[in-house]
Amino acid sequence: MSTPFVWHNGRIKPWAEANVHVSTHALHYGSSVFEGERVYATPRGPAYFRLADHTRRLFESARVYEIDVGYSEDEINAACLELIRANAMPSAYVRPIVFRGAGGLGVLAKDGAPVEVALMAMAWGAYLGEAAERGADVCVSSWHRPAPNTIPSWAKAGGNYLSSQLIGLEARRNGYDEGIALGHGGLLSEGAGENIFLVKRGKLLTPPSSAGILAGITRDSVLALANDLGIAVEERELPREALYSADEVFMTGTAAEITPVRSVDRKAIGKGAPGPVTQQLRQAFFGLFDGRTEDRRSWLTPVHSD
Ligand code: PMP
Repeated sequence: MSTPFVWHNGRIKPWAEANVHVSTHALHYGSSVFEGERVYATPRGPAYFRLADHTRRLFESARVYEIDVGYSEDEINAACLELIRANAMPSAYVRPIVFRGAGGLGVLAKDGAPVEVALMAMAWGAYLGEAAERGADVCVSSWHRPAPNTIPSWAKAGGNYLSSQLIGLEARRNGYDEGIALGHGGLLSEGAGENIFLVKRGKLLTPPSSAGILAGITRDSVLALANDLGIAVEERELPREALYSADEVFMTGTAAEITPVRSVDRKAIGKGAPGPVTQQLRQAFFGLFDGRTEDRRSWLTPVHSD
């Protein structure tokens, strides 16, 4: 998965030199915040999708945990562009991470643990493999998401992904592509690393951002594209059984993009294949990158300014 260069603490360095010490605070206490971003190959060359929005969420996550990033949002945006140029990549998955570093154990890292910042770029295809095309087989997990007054879900923090690992491990062990979790109130929340959408009688439904979910940037993009396409949208609380009676279900995420779901708990959704609304939204989404969909909201940032 390695690429030639990593951006680490202000400079580009060879992948093998971007290391941390075993006393790194984040390793012991989960004190990291991160992002997952994609660079797509477009007719104008490689371009980030919603770079500024991802960087803003990174800083918002850091604020929740009182982690001082030490760079401005503009500096991080510029560093993201520099990283893709240095690695000469046509497309990529990019992982910025901000974390409490080495030198100060203890929950509050009183004696140090200076903040480190790293940006990695990797080649990464469809997150859920061939499920992206045929439709994923998912289950409702026996693990629930943490309540909002325990670990905040809007902050994309390393520690949150212990919950995602339990959901994902259980799902894979039982032969599913992915698991969907209920929130602390017993209603639908999100997948291990994706937001979820249902289509019912032509209307797009998704749990509200207060449902203990990450406020996904792909989720927001799908809501905007649905509006553009004249598809009715409702963000509302949904019970588990709404999945079973849905005409279509799909999951969204930077890594997962728009992944159709063909079955939940071994019950077929619709005709057991990606449905028409899902296909329409996938076309509009991927059309942003080959120019078939107009980039009305300036979501793309070209890596090479011409
Ligand atoms: N929920 C969780 C738990 C995630 O990890 C992700 C992936 N970042 C998402 C939702 C989707 O968010 P986004 O579309 O911003 O990638």
